[in-house]
Amino acid sequence: MSLHEFIKAMPKVELHVHLQGATQPETWLELSQRNNVPLPAKTIEEMRDWFVFTDFAHFIQIYMKVSATVRSADDIEFMAREFLRGQAAQNIQYTEITYTPHIHYTLAGIEGKDQLEALLRAREWAKKTHDVDCGYILDISRNVTAEEGLWTADLAISGMNRGVVALGLGGPEVGHPPEKHAISFQKAHAAGLTVILHAGETEGPASIWGAIEQGTARIGHGVRAIEDAKLMAHLRETQIPLEVSPTSNICLGVFPSMKEHPLPRLIAEGLYVTLNSDDPPMFNTTLTNEFITAADVFGMDADTLIQLTYNAIRVSRLPNAEKAALEAKFKHEIELLKATS
Ligand SMILES: [Zn+2]
Repeated sequence: MSLHEFIKAMPKVELHVHLQGATQPETWLELSQRNNVPLPAKTIEEMRDWFVFTDFAHFIQIYMKVSATVRSADDIEFMAREFLRGQAAQNIQYTEITYTPHIHYTLAGIEGKDQLEALLRAREWAKKTHDVDCGYILDISRNVTAEEGLWTADLAISGMNRGVVALGLGGPEVGHPPEKHAISFQKAHAAGLTVILHAGETEGPASIWGAIEQGTARIGHGVRAIEDAKLMAHLRETQIPLEVSPTSNICLGVFPSMKEHPLPRLIAEGLYVTLNSDDPPMFNTTLTNEFITAADVFGMDADTLIQLTYNAIRVSRLPNAEKAALEAKFKHEIELLKATS
């Protein structure tokens, strides 16, 4: 078995992927037709062309237009099911899905609790039909007001122990530091809900320090820590995990080329690294492809990639007993895979 075949077949976990950003053009097209909300593309070929990444402005334009095709809680369940079907096809057995509920409340008036129930129905379906599980990170898009952020925090808290594993912070980083939504993070902490923030992607080390200040359990991206030796030392010491998404970083111009991406350096310097896809169809990638890229561009071997997978299990928000069970299951499956190669 080649390394590529091994990567495709190996069991995986993903911690940083956005439901809206991971929804395939086919699914958006179906929602567009079902709900009679026109998109700039009418066929799947046109959709794929439109989805080709050009720049951040185009990315946001796609994101806003496709989000408008969602009109009901059933649409959200459909999106989540289709996404989880795709995760299962990559043998991603557990996913922590970032989902931004406020946008569908704003655009279509879908109540938060109805959105949450739809997500939970999709999760049950995926468990039964594809034997894959997930947890939800409900995130605040950082451009909304602190008060609107609280709407998401309250919804996330209401879903604790029922599939919501954290409160997140995503969206445009520039001009919106983490402390803007401090009141939401304080409320989550007080309720015992984990907080996981994006930082250090389009903004530098100050944003990462800010996220740490807010008590983030992991850092979404965090790759620009390399600009600050003190921060690198802090991350090595504390082992706060980074959710690294190389292709996303290259598309958004965080680094000029994949060869210059600091993934190998972050690992070599002893930081806690996991590998993720972020918004896969929008960046023309998948989690499988991120592993293949790590192998092809950085020469990472199977054992290094397996280690990244165990890293993800260990810092997931699964209860400890479930983490141990999942890691044991993966070890067994990986041994079997290695034996056939
Ligand atoms: Zn992200």
